[in-house]
Amino acid sequence: MNIEKVGIVGAGQMGAGIAQVCALAGIDVLLNDVSDDKIQKGLAWIAGALAKLVEKTQLEESASTEALARIKPALDFKAFSDCDLVIEAASENEDVKRKIFAAICPSLKPEAMLASNTSSISITRLASVTDRPERFIGIHFMNPVYKMQLVELIRGIATEDVTFEAAKGLIVRLNKVATVSEDFPAFIVNRILLPMINEAIYTLYEGVGSVESIDTAMRLGANHPMGPLQLADFIGLDTLLSVMQVLHEGLADSKYRPCPLLVKYVEAGWLGRKTQRGFYDYRSGTPVPTR
Ligand code: NAD
Repeated sequence: MNIEKVGIVGAGQMGAGIAQVCALAGIDVLLNDVSDDKIQKGLAWIAGALAKLVEKTQLEESASTEALARIKPALDFKAFSDCDLVIEAASENEDVKRKIFAAICPSLKPEAMLASNTSSISITRLASVTDRPERFIGIHFMNPVYKMQLVELIRGIATEDVTFEAAKGLIVRLNKVATVSEDFPAFIVNRILLPMINEAIYTLYEGVGSVESIDTAMRLGANHPMGPLQLADFIGLDTLLSVMQVLHEGLADSKYRPCPLLVKYVEAGWLGRKTQRGFYDYRSGTPVPTR
Protein backbone atom coordinates (compact mmCIF):
# COMPACT_ATOMS: atom_id res chain seq x y z
CA MET A 1 0.00 0.00 0.00
CA ASN A 2 1.29 3.41 -0.99
CA ILE A 3 1.27 6.05 1.71
CA GLU A 4 0.86 9.47 0.14
CA LYS A 5 -1.26 11.24 2.74
CA VAL A 6 -0.82 10.98 6.49
CA GLY A 7 -2.96 12.33 9.31
CA ILE A 8 -1.20 13.07 12.59
CA VAL A 9 -3.00 13.41 15.92
CA GLY A 10 -1.06 15.43 18.47
CA ALA A 11 1.06 18.41 17.41
CA GLY A 12 3.48 18.24 20.35
CA GLN A 13 7.19 17.55 20.02
CA MET A 14 6.69 14.08 18.48
CA GLY A 15 3.67 14.83 16.27
CA ALA A 16 5.36 17.94 14.88
CA GLY A 17 8.61 16.02 14.33
CA ILE A 18 6.80 13.20 12.50
CA ALA A 19 4.96 15.77 10.36
CA GLN A 20 8.29 17.40 9.50
CA VAL A 21 10.00 14.19 8.31
CA CYS A 22 6.93 13.00 6.37
CA ALA A 23 6.58 16.35 4.57
CA LEU A 24 10.31 16.37 3.75
CA ALA A 25 9.82 12.92 2.16
CA GLY A 26 7.10 14.34 -0.11
CA ILE A 27 4.11 13.04 1.84
CA ASP A 28 1.04 15.26 2.40
CA VAL A 29 0.31 15.78 6.09
CA LEU A 30 -2.77 16.81 8.07
CA LEU A 31 -1.92 17.89 11.61
CA ASN A 32 -4.52 17.67 14.39
CA ASP A 33 -4.55 18.61 18.07
CA VAL A 34 -7.15 19.62 20.67
CA SER A 35 -7.23 23.27 19.58
CA ASP A 36 -6.24 25.48 16.69
CA ASP A 37 -3.75 27.15 19.05
CA LYS A 38 -1.91 23.88 19.64
CA ILE A 39 -1.89 23.07 15.92
CA GLN A 40 -0.48 26.53 15.12
CA LYS A 41 2.18 26.04 17.81
CA GLY A 42 3.13 22.75 16.16
CA LEU A 43 3.27 24.35 12.72
CA ALA A 44 5.44 27.18 14.07
CA TRP A 45 7.78 24.62 15.64
CA ILE A 46 8.12 22.83 12.28
CA ALA A 47 8.77 26.13 10.46
CA GLY A 48 11.49 26.92 13.02
CA ALA A 49 13.07 23.45 12.71
CA LEU A 50 13.14 23.69 8.90
CA ALA A 51 14.57 27.22 9.03
CA LYS A 52 17.41 25.95 11.24
CA LEU A 53 18.23 23.23 8.68
CA VAL A 54 18.32 25.86 5.90
CA GLU A 55 20.53 28.09 8.05
CA LYS A 56 22.97 25.19 8.58
CA THR A 57 22.87 24.55 4.79
CA GLN A 58 21.51 21.05 5.41
CA LEU A 59 18.37 21.84 3.42
CA GLU A 60 17.58 23.95 0.34
CA GLU A 61 15.26 26.89 0.98
CA SER A 62 12.91 25.60 -1.77
CA ALA A 63 12.70 22.12 -0.14
CA SER A 64 11.82 23.76 3.17
CA THR A 65 9.07 25.88 1.55
CA GLU A 66 7.66 22.83 -0.27
CA ALA A 67 7.68 20.72 2.91
CA LEU A 68 5.86 23.41 4.89
CA ALA A 69 3.24 23.76 2.15
CA ARG A 70 2.52 20.02 2.40
CA ILE A 71 1.40 20.30 6.05
CA LYS A 72 -2.17 21.48 6.63
CA PRO A 73 -4.06 21.93 9.90
CA ALA A 74 -6.97 19.56 10.61
CA LEU A 75 -9.31 20.72 13.34
CA ASP A 76 -11.40 17.56 13.30
CA PHE A 77 -11.06 13.94 12.24
CA LYS A 78 -13.45 14.33 9.26
CA ALA A 79 -10.49 15.86 7.41
CA PHE A 80 -8.78 12.43 7.58
CA SER A 81 -11.24 10.87 5.07
CA ASP A 82 -8.65 10.52 2.30
CA CYS A 83 -5.61 9.70 4.49
CA ASP A 84 -3.78 6.42 3.78
CA LEU A 85 -2.45 6.34 7.33
CA VAL A 86 -3.19 8.16 10.58
CA ILE A 87 -0.42 8.26 13.19
CA GLU A 88 -1.51 9.05 16.74
CA ALA A 89 1.11 10.99 18.73
CA ALA A 90 -1.07 12.42 21.52
CA SER A 91 -0.17 12.42 25.23
CA GLU A 92 0.94 9.10 26.74
CA ASN A 93 -2.38 8.23 28.36
CA GLU A 94 -4.27 5.10 27.42
CA ASP A 95 -7.77 6.60 27.93
CA VAL A 96 -6.92 9.57 25.74
CA LYS A 97 -5.54 7.31 23.01
CA ARG A 98 -8.49 4.87 23.14
CA LYS A 99 -10.95 7.76 22.77
CA ILE A 100 -8.99 9.17 19.82
CA PHE A 101 -8.89 5.84 17.96
CA ALA A 102 -12.57 5.13 18.54
CA ALA A 103 -13.46 8.62 17.30
CA ILE A 104 -11.26 8.49 14.18
CA CYS A 105 -12.56 5.24 12.67
CA PRO A 106 -15.87 6.51 11.23
CA SER A 107 -13.98 9.18 9.24
CA LEU A 108 -11.47 6.83 7.58
CA LYS A 109 -11.62 5.16 4.19
CA PRO A 110 -11.86 1.36 4.58
CA GLU A 111 -8.29 0.61 3.49
CA ALA A 112 -6.65 3.28 5.69
CA MET A 113 -4.11 2.17 8.28
CA LEU A 114 -3.82 3.36 11.89
CA ALA A 115 -0.63 3.65 13.93
CA SER A 116 0.30 4.75 17.43
CA ASN A 117 3.57 6.39 18.38
CA THR A 118 3.05 5.28 21.98
CA SER A 119 6.22 4.74 24.03
CA SER A 120 4.81 1.94 26.14
CA ILE A 121 1.10 1.10 25.79
CA SER A 122 -0.07 -2.24 24.36
CA ILE A 123 -0.66 -2.04 20.60
CA THR A 124 -3.08 -4.97 20.82
CA ARG A 125 -5.19 -3.13 23.43
CA LEU A 126 -5.24 0.12 21.44
CA ALA A 127 -6.09 -1.76 18.22
CA SER A 128 -9.01 -3.47 19.95
CA VAL A 129 -11.03 -0.23 20.15
CA THR A 130 -10.82 0.27 16.38
CA ASP A 131 -12.77 -1.31 13.52
CA ARG A 132 -9.50 -2.46 11.88
CA PRO A 133 -7.05 -4.18 14.27
CA GLU A 134 -5.50 -5.94 11.26
CA ARG A 135 -4.57 -2.53 9.83
CA PHE A 136 -3.19 -1.21 13.14
CA ILE A 137 0.50 -1.07 14.09
CA GLY A 138 2.90 0.59 16.53
CA ILE A 139 5.30 2.98 14.79
CA HIS A 140 7.53 4.30 17.54
CA PHE A 141 9.71 7.22 16.44
CA MET A 142 12.50 8.48 18.68
CA ASN A 143 12.99 12.06 19.88
CA PRO A 144 14.09 14.29 18.12
CA VAL A 145 12.43 12.64 15.14
CA TYR A 146 14.50 14.37 12.45
CA LYS A 147 17.82 13.38 14.03
CA MET A 148 17.18 9.90 15.39
CA GLN A 149 17.63 7.07 12.94
CA LEU A 150 15.68 4.35 14.71
CA VAL A 151 11.98 3.56 14.50
CA GLU A 152 10.53 0.59 16.41
CA LEU A 153 7.75 -1.32 14.68
CA ILE A 154 5.37 -3.22 16.94
CA ARG A 155 2.74 -5.60 15.66
CA GLY A 156 -0.43 -6.18 17.65
CA ILE A 157 -1.87 -9.68 17.78
CA ALA A 158 -4.04 -9.01 14.71
CA THR A 159 -1.66 -6.88 12.62
CA GLU A 160 -1.53 -8.28 9.08
CA ASP A 161 1.63 -8.63 6.98
CA VAL A 162 0.47 -5.98 4.46
CA THR A 163 0.19 -3.46 7.28
CA PHE A 164 3.64 -4.34 8.61
CA GLU A 165 5.19 -4.17 5.11
CA ALA A 166 3.55 -0.79 4.41
CA ALA A 167 4.88 0.60 7.70
CA LYS A 168 8.35 -0.77 6.94
CA GLY A 169 8.19 0.84 3.49
CA LEU A 170 7.31 4.18 5.06
CA ILE A 171 10.31 4.00 7.41
CA VAL A 172 12.65 3.30 4.47
CA ARG A 173 11.13 6.24 2.59
CA LEU A 174 11.79 8.45 5.63
CA ASN A 175 15.43 7.30 5.50
CA LYS A 176 15.26 5.64 8.87
CA VAL A 177 16.03 2.19 10.20
CA ALA A 178 13.26 -0.04 11.52
CA THR A 179 13.68 -2.61 14.27
CA VAL A 180 10.95 -4.94 15.40
CA SER A 181 9.77 -5.31 18.95
CA GLU A 182 7.17 -7.65 20.38
CA ASP A 183 4.15 -6.03 22.00
CA PHE A 184 5.36 -5.91 25.62
CA PRO A 185 5.29 -2.86 27.92
CA ALA A 186 7.60 -0.09 26.65
CA PHE A 187 8.97 -2.31 23.83
CA ILE A 188 12.80 -2.41 23.56
CA VAL A 189 14.39 1.06 23.79
CA ASN A 190 12.25 2.37 26.63
CA ARG A 191 12.24 -0.94 28.52
CA ILE A 192 15.99 -0.52 28.86
CA LEU A 193 16.44 3.27 28.87
CA LEU A 194 13.64 4.53 31.11
CA PRO A 195 14.38 2.37 34.19
CA MET A 196 17.93 3.77 33.97
CA ILE A 197 16.58 7.33 34.01
CA ASN A 198 14.19 6.43 36.86
CA GLU A 199 17.20 5.07 38.77
CA ALA A 200 19.03 8.37 38.18
CA ILE A 201 16.04 10.16 39.76
CA TYR A 202 16.22 7.77 42.77
CA THR A 203 19.91 8.60 43.01
CA LEU A 204 18.94 12.27 43.28
CA TYR A 205 16.01 11.51 45.63
CA GLU A 206 18.24 9.57 48.02
CA GLY A 207 20.86 12.32 48.02
CA VAL A 208 23.59 10.21 46.46
CA GLY A 209 24.40 13.06 44.10
CA SER A 210 23.19 16.45 42.92
CA VAL A 211 21.56 17.02 39.50
CA GLU A 212 24.89 18.24 38.17
CA SER A 213 26.98 15.42 39.60
CA ILE A 214 24.58 12.71 38.35
CA ASP A 215 24.52 14.14 34.82
CA THR A 216 28.26 14.76 34.73
CA ALA A 217 28.91 11.24 36.07
CA MET A 218 26.92 9.58 33.29
CA ARG A 219 28.18 11.90 30.54
CA LEU A 220 31.85 11.54 31.37
CA GLY A 221 31.79 8.20 33.16
CA ALA A 222 29.54 6.20 30.86
CA ASN A 223 30.07 8.32 27.73
CA HIS A 224 26.37 9.13 27.37
CA PRO A 225 25.80 12.16 25.09
CA MET A 226 23.32 13.60 27.61
CA GLY A 227 23.03 13.12 31.37
CA PRO A 228 19.97 11.08 32.45
CA LEU A 229 18.24 14.03 34.14
CA GLN A 230 18.89 16.26 31.14
CA LEU A 231 17.43 13.46 29.00
CA ALA A 232 14.43 13.15 31.35
CA ASP A 233 13.66 16.85 30.81
CA PHE A 234 14.06 16.36 27.07
CA ILE A 235 11.64 13.41 26.93
CA GLY A 236 9.07 15.12 29.19
CA LEU A 237 8.55 14.06 32.81
CA ASP A 238 4.84 13.29 32.26
CA THR A 239 5.71 10.88 29.44
CA LEU A 240 8.48 9.34 31.55
CA LEU A 241 6.12 8.80 34.51
CA SER A 242 3.42 7.28 32.28
CA VAL A 243 5.91 4.83 30.78
CA MET A 244 7.20 3.82 34.23
CA GLN A 245 3.58 3.27 35.35
CA VAL A 246 2.91 1.07 32.30
CA LEU A 247 6.08 -0.94 33.05
CA HIS A 248 5.21 -1.23 36.76
CA GLU A 249 1.63 -2.31 36.16
CA GLY A 250 2.25 -4.33 33.02
CA LEU A 251 5.16 -6.38 34.33
CA ALA A 252 4.08 -6.36 38.02
CA ASP A 253 7.68 -6.05 39.18
CA SER A 254 8.58 -3.56 41.94
CA LYS A 255 11.88 -2.78 40.23
CA TYR A 256 9.89 -0.53 37.87
CA ARG A 257 8.25 1.58 40.62
CA PRO A 258 8.32 5.25 39.58
CA CYS A 259 10.48 7.39 41.85
CA PRO A 260 8.30 9.56 44.19
CA LEU A 261 10.39 12.58 43.22
CA LEU A 262 9.38 12.07 39.57
CA VAL A 263 5.73 11.93 40.67
CA LYS A 264 6.19 15.17 42.63
CA TYR A 265 7.70 17.03 39.67
CA VAL A 266 4.84 15.94 37.42
CA GLU A 267 2.27 16.95 40.07
CA ALA A 268 3.91 20.38 40.21
CA GLY A 269 3.54 20.72 36.44
CA TRP A 270 7.33 20.71 36.08
CA LEU A 271 7.40 18.54 32.97
CA GLY A 272 10.88 19.40 31.67
CA ARG A 273 11.78 21.47 28.65
CA LYS A 274 8.24 21.72 27.33
CA THR A 275 7.13 23.67 30.42
CA GLN A 276 10.55 25.37 30.91
CA ARG A 277 11.13 23.61 34.24
CA GLY A 278 12.01 20.09 35.33
CA PHE A 279 15.30 18.88 36.79
CA TYR A 280 16.63 22.10 35.25
CA ASP A 281 15.07 25.55 35.00
CA TYR A 282 15.30 26.77 31.40
CA ARG A 283 13.57 30.12 31.82
CA SER A 284 16.72 32.24 31.81
CA GLY A 285 18.06 30.59 28.65
CA THR A 286 20.82 28.78 30.56
CA PRO A 287 19.71 25.53 32.26
CA VAL A 288 20.00 25.85 36.05
CA PRO A 289 19.54 22.71 38.24
CA THR A 290 16.36 22.93 40.33
CA ARG A 291 17.85 20.85 43.20
P1 NAD B 1 3.68 16.36 24.03
O1 NAD B 1 3.14 16.60 25.38
O2 NAD B 1 4.78 17.23 23.49
O3 NAD B 1 2.49 16.42 22.94
C1 NAD B 1 1.30 15.72 23.10
C2 NAD B 1 0.23 16.47 22.30
O4 NAD B 1 -0.96 15.68 22.26
C3 NAD B 1 -0.15 17.81 22.94
O5 NAD B 1 0.00 18.85 21.99
C4 NAD B 1 -1.61 17.60 23.33
O6 NAD B 1 -2.40 18.77 23.24
C5 NAD B 1 -2.04 16.56 22.31
N1 NAD B 1 -3.26 15.86 22.67
C6 NAD B 1 -3.65 15.43 23.90
N2 NAD B 1 -4.89 14.89 23.82
C7 NAD B 1 -5.27 14.99 22.51
C8 NAD B 1 -6.46 14.63 21.81
N3 NAD B 1 -7.49 14.05 22.45
N4 NAD B 1 -6.52 14.88 20.49
C9 NAD B 1 -5.49 15.47 19.84
N5 NAD B 1 -4.34 15.83 20.45
C10 NAD B 1 -4.24 15.60 21.78
O7 NAD B 1 4.11 14.82 24.01
P2 NAD B 1 5.14 14.09 23.01
O8 NAD B 1 6.46 14.04 23.66
O9 NAD B 1 4.97 14.66 21.65
O10 NAD B 1 4.55 12.61 23.07
C11 NAD B 1 3.49 12.19 22.22
C12 NAD B 1 3.50 10.67 22.11
O11 NAD B 1 4.76 10.25 21.57
C13 NAD B 1 3.32 9.93 23.44
O12 NAD B 1 2.59 8.75 23.22
C14 NAD B 1 4.75 9.62 23.83
O13 NAD B 1 4.87 8.51 24.68
C15 NAD B 1 5.34 9.31 22.47
N6 NAD B 1 6.82 9.47 22.39
C16 NAD B 1 7.45 10.45 23.08
C17 NAD B 1 8.84 10.56 23.00
C18 NAD B 1 9.56 11.63 23.77
O14 NAD B 1 10.79 11.56 23.92
N7 NAD B 1 8.89 12.66 24.27
C19 NAD B 1 9.56 9.69 22.19
C20 NAD B 1 8.88 8.71 21.47
C21 NAD B 1 7.50 8.60 21.58
